[in-house]
Amino acid sequence: MSYEANVRRVTPYVPGEQPKEKNIIKLNTNENPYPPAPGWREIVNTIDEDAFRKYPDPLITDLTHAIAAYHKVDIDKVFVGIGSDDVLATAFLTLFNSEKPVIFPDITYSFYDVWADVFRIPYKTIPLDENFRIKAEDYNIPNGGIVIANPNAPTGILESVDFIEGIIKANPDSAVIVDEAYIDFGGETCLPLIDKYENLLVVRTFSKSRCMAGLRIGYAIGNVKMIKFISDVKFSINSYTLNTPTIALGLASLRDNEYFEECCQRVIATRERAEEQLIKLGFKSTNSYANFLFVSHKEKKAEYIFEELKKRKIYVRYFKKPRIDNYLRISIGTDDEMEKLVEALKEIV
Ligand SMILES: *Cc1c(COP(=O)(O)O)cnc(C)c1O
Repeated sequence: MSYEANVRRVTPYVPGEQPKEKNIIKLNTNENPYPPAPGWREIVNTIDEDAFRKYPDPLITDLTHAIAAYHKVDIDKVFVGIGSDDVLATAFLTLFNSEKPVIFPDITYSFYDVWADVFRIPYKTIPLDENFRIKAEDYNIPNGGIVIANPNAPTGILESVDFIEGIIKANPDSAVIVDEAYIDFGGETCLPLIDKYENLLVVRTFSKSRCMAGLRIGYAIGNVKMIKFISDVKFSINSYTLNTPTIALGLASLRDNEYFEECCQRVIATRERAEEQLIKLGFKSTNSYANFLFVSHKEKKAEYIFEELKKRKIYVRYFKKPRIDNYLRISIGTDDEMEKLVEALKEIV
């Protein structure tokens, strides 16, 4: 006998490596290569001891207001959490409480099945087609909820708002979570649909397009009732999620829209250029709308290229998983970093 029989055992999600080594080119976790909006410096200088001594605002009022204003929605349609991972986990726990399986694509963000496992939510993965596209009709089955990353990860493939709407419309008895972690890199958002469909939740993050992965800010937008359900669960686990400095720094990012848009445009421009260069080297590439490319080489194996790049201190992401084990996911760095990547690949392939 042992306590171990009573333990909630799980196989955890494995994030991309964060090597301590200096002088590496890090294109493996979709961090933005640019600094956050420069207003953060002034904020850091104004942080006083109360920010550490006192509990932060449990309602995250100021940041919630600013996010609501940015998206032109009411504040009670916004839920803020510790990165979108926290927002998604809380949404899974709240919205997916059915005996029927939650459904999502077989190739997608690899945290979804981990949350389903840890919360004991039944789930079923639905195979994407041979071009990694969602087949909408496959989602017309009894289910306890739906999760779609749009653009999808790690493929970068974007589906249209009309296409996603079809799935939401066909499933009025299921909560549908649309994870828009990468939407700012050229995609069209499903946000306007939240007033039309009470079962839709759109999730966003400051980590990718706002260059703030280290701060951990994510949020969800949905109708008032759904946001209240999620908020009730949050207040049943942890009242104080975002800390005071993080809230202030998030506000600074939202104040500088010009910088934000310029940053996104730079990433998009670099992505298009890098893609062209990789195609010339014999790679095929999905049409990515994210801050990464998803590529496969016609001769050299992805795992080999991954190892060779690593020897040259260039880190990209390789997933040893069915269907995608001959692909590499390469985050978009600065032009200079992408140039170095291309030079290295010229030697390797
Ligand atoms: C990066 C990512 C997230 C998580 O981002 P946070 O840093 O936790 O906000 C969520 N979903 C997808 C698809 C992602 O790629």
